[in-house]
Formats: sequence, structure tokens, C-alpha cells
Amino acid sequence: MRNDEHILVAGSGIAGLGAALAFGGGTRRVTILDRDPPPPAGSAEEAFYSWERRGATQLRHSHAFLGRLTTLIRERYPDLMAELLHEGTRLFGFEDGLTPTLAQHYVPSKGDEDLKLLFSRRTTLELILRRYAARQPGVTFINDAGVRGPIVRHEGGKLFVDGLKVERIGVVEDMRADVTVDATGRNTLFPDWLRAEGATIKEDSKPCGILYYTRHYKLRDGQEEPQRDPNAAGGADLGYIKYGVFIADNRHFSVTVAVPEIESILRTAIVKPENFDAACMAMPGAARWIDPVRAEPVSRVFSMGELHNVWRHYVEDGVPQALNFFAIGDASVRTNPLYGRGCSLGVVEAHLLRGALDSSDDPVERALTYEREITKAMRPYYNSMVDLDLQAIRRAEHERDPNYQPGLRARIMKSFTEEGLMPAQRGDVEVSRAMSRVFHMLDEPATMLRKPRVLLGVLGMWATSTVEKKRRGLYAAKAGPERADMFKLLNIAA
Ligand SMILES: Cc1cc2nc3c(=O)[nH]c(=O)nc-3n(C[C@H](O)[C@H](O)[C@H](O)COP(=O)(O)OP(=O)(O)OC[C@H]3O[C@@H](n4cnc5c(N)ncnc54)[C@H](O)[C@@H]3O)c2cc1C
Repeated sequence: MRNDEHILVAGSGIAGLGAALAFGGGTRRVTILDRDPPPPAGSAEEAFYSWERRGATQLRHSHAFLGRLTTLIRERYPDLMAELLHEGTRLFGFEDGLTPTLAQHYVPSKGDEDLKLLFSRRTTLELILRRYAARQPGVTFINDAGVRGPIVRHEGGKLFVDGLKVERIGVVEDMRADVTVDATGRNTLFPDWLRAEGATIKEDSKPCGILYYTRHYKLRDGQEEPQRDPNAAGGADLGYIKYGVFIADNRHFSVTVAVPEIESILRTAIVKPENFDAACMAMPGAARWIDPVRAEPVSRVFSMGELHNVWRHYVEDGVPQALNFFAIGDASVRTNPLYGRGCSLGVVEAHLLRGALDSSDDPVERALTYEREITKAMRPYYNSMVDLDLQAIRRAEHERDPNYQPGLRARIMKSFTEEGLMPAQRGDVEVSRAMSRVFHMLDEPATMLRKPRVLLGVLGMWATSTVEKKRRGLYAAKAGPERADMFKLLNIAA
């Protein structure tokens, strides 16, 4: 088995860094190229305020890092995890997120240690990951290097990729490699470059239906984070708007507001900082964080649209379309940022690629193994996100229609969710754990209600009277104003 290969990676975002981890430290050489400049030599603060990243404009949006990623780091790179924690990032475990009632009777169960979010600004995570990866034997980063296309070879009716054409200081040079990896993110040009060479690369694409708005804040000196309050959750979906508070490192946090694409007036209004803050102040779960006594804004409102779920197929009818070439991260599978899965997915794919290369020397075998493994590991999550996004798009449309009457099926589903699933999450630790495992991408969504204990828990809760559920505090408090009231507050036309 070959283990002396040179792996050339285009893109040093999260997936490229994942590749550096997966392939570094051994007998292979890995070179990671990026057209953006390297991180500043200084602290996480410098990276946040001054690292120019035109190639990854989502860098300054809120990011949460799921258990799928934190578990991988903890198990395979414990010293990296220690470094991350030392630099001010934090882990937030399953027990930390339980309601006070559940927390009282909480008994740790096997696997709970994997349900940990990492609280970090994206810039901080990238900075530490990059520094760690750069120290591993065999790893080289080259910045200010723009990939201009693949070096290809047609042989025996097959298309091989033998490296990259790379532009540095105005000069294009060939960089050859045994394996070439596309980690250039969501706007990758590789599918077009390879199609021009005769490859068939199909894409499934579905809209996320939302736009993303993020503002960063920092706790003022002497102020602390608010205590967790189950009646003022750090995130909620009001139908016409969703919000989330993302705790980060070193006293930073951010709030993201997601607005449905069809809410064009709200979309224009929310980007103004005064409107953003006013909307957040109307939602108790966000208000308690951004309260001007407690925290100060440290950024403008960043916005981002054109959000799509995209799955790219590099194998067509069982035939790999480009050999010695692999896509990882957003270049391979792109997902709705709301679910916080993209970074986990990119790093997991990098490690699945390592497994595929280790399993065989045959380029066709490798391509098929990689395709099979990413489909198994990621497709169930992708499919469920697409379905949920479709439901959310419909819900946003209904919010705007005062005469909307849901049909029987929609009423049953609403009742099941609001009277069964959600209260069970707050009042039944097994249901909460099962939901958390899906959230963290550790269990596939469809498996949750197949667990008899979980199904019984949800059905039992559905059958429990409203009075009893109220008595036990199992309903979430109202997360914010109705649409018309929010529009009035922001002084915009509904
Ligand atoms: C608004 C928003 C919020 C998100 N929130 C979360 C979250 O909470 N949690 C989560 O896990 N995920 C989140 N995601 C998804 C996550 O950001 C992506 O999945 C992740 O960044 C993908 O990593 P990547 O390395 O594939 O691409 P990127 O991180 O986009 O990196 C691509 C890199 O390739 C480089 N590049 C591009 N073209 C070239 C070229 N021609 N030559 C050289 N270099 C090139 C770029 O400079 C860049 O550094 C969010 C995404 C968005 C849009």
C-alpha cells in the first residue's frame, strides 16, 4: 500500500485544515494552498479583527461546532483540544444544556461525553487549528496562491488529475501531486473545470430559504454571561424570523438572525444595526445577552444570502468521473448554516478520504470507497435538512397569510411537535438525549423515533394533559412578538 504520496489540497478553510490533520504527521506529504493571506502571528483577537479572508466570507458569521467534530478532535488530537481550550474556547456538554428539572435527576450515560459543543469564534478555531496543523511533520501551507485549474491527463478513456495550476505573484506554475483535493468551498470552480474535460458532475441543489444576519458582541468588563433560563432560550424559531445566540471564546458572543427569503422588507431593515438590536431586544432569549449594560457590539451586522443545500456527485452510474481527485467540505456537500453542520462535515470527510486512500492503491477503488463512505456518513443528515428547510419555507409563507388554515395532516404534525416532542425534550432526559445525538450528527435523524423508549416518551407526553404539562413547566415561553408586532416595532410595513 502506498503511503509516501504527495497530497495537494486547494483551500485552507476548515476542510483543508481537516485534510492537513488527516494526512499530516505520517509518511505522506500534504501541501495546502490558499489564495487568502496567512493568519496574523498574534492572538485570537487579532485574527478576529484583522485576518482578511475574502475566500471565506462566512468567517465572521456565527459558528457552532458540533459533537461530531469535537469528539473527533478529542479522540484523535487530544493535544489540539487542549490548545483550543487553553486559548479560551469552551466545551458545552449535554448536562450543561438540560432544563433545571432534568439537571436535578441527571445521571450520566455512555456517549454523553460526545455531546459537546465547542464555543469559539470561527476565526479562533481556524487560527489554532492552522497553527497546530502547521507543526505536524509533512504539512506545508502556501498562502497567496490562487488555484487556476487542474492539471489533467486522459488515459484509457479515463480522466486523471495530476495536480494544480497555481498562480503566485502573477506567475502560473504547475504543482504536481499523486492526489489532488478540492477544498475551495461552496463556490468551487472544479466541477466546471472538470466538465470542460468531459466529466459528468451532477448536483442536487435545494434552497435553504433564509438569509443570515450576524452581529458580534463582547461582555463588558465586570459583566458575566446571563444564567441559563429555560424560559428565555438562546435560540428559537418564530416562523417569520429565527434567532440564535452563539457563545464564543474570550468573552465574545454573537447573535444570528435568519430571515426567510420571502420577507423582503424585513431583510432590508434588519441589516441596520439599530433595527437588528431592536429586533433582538424584543426576543427575551437574545435581549438578556445584548442588554447594553451587559455587552457592547463589536461589529457591524454581517449579512449572507444565496444559501443552498448542494450535493455534488463525482461518481456517475458507478463510474468515478475524475481519478486521483476528491472534493471535501463545501466543495463536496453544502448545507444550511442553521444546522451548524458544515465544519463537522468537512473535517469528517477529510478523515473518510484518508481511510479511502489507506484502503487501496487503485484510483477507481479509492474513488468508489470515498463516494460510498461519504454517502453513508452524510446523506441521511443532508436529506433531513432539505426536508426541514422545505417545511420552514412553507411555514414562512403561511405566516404571511392571515387566512391560512392548516390541513388535517399539518395540524396533527404541529400537535405532535408542540404537545409531544418539544415538551418531552424539556421533561424527559431520554428524549432530550436522543434529540441531542441527532443535533450533534451522532445518530441519523430517522433513527430517533425508532428507539422504543424515545417513541414511548414522546407519545406519552403527547397524551399528557395541557394542564399537567403547564404545571411541570414543559412549554417553552413565548420567544418573541408576532410578526405584525415586530414589524410595527421596527416601523416597517407588514
Ligand atoms: C453564514 C454561515 C454560517 C455558518 N455557520 C456554521 C456553523 O455554525 N457551524 C458549522 O459547522 N458550519 C457553519 N457554516 C458552514 C461552514 O462555514 C462551511 O461548511 C465550512 O466553512 C466549509 O469549509 P470549507 O473548507 O469547505 O470551505 P471554506 O471554509 O469556505 O474555505 C474555502 C477556502 O478555499 C479558498 N479558496 C477558494 N478558491 C480558491 C482558489 N481558487 N485558490 C486557492 N484557494 C481558494 C478560500 O480562500 C478559503 O480559504 C456556516 C456557513 C455560513 C455560510
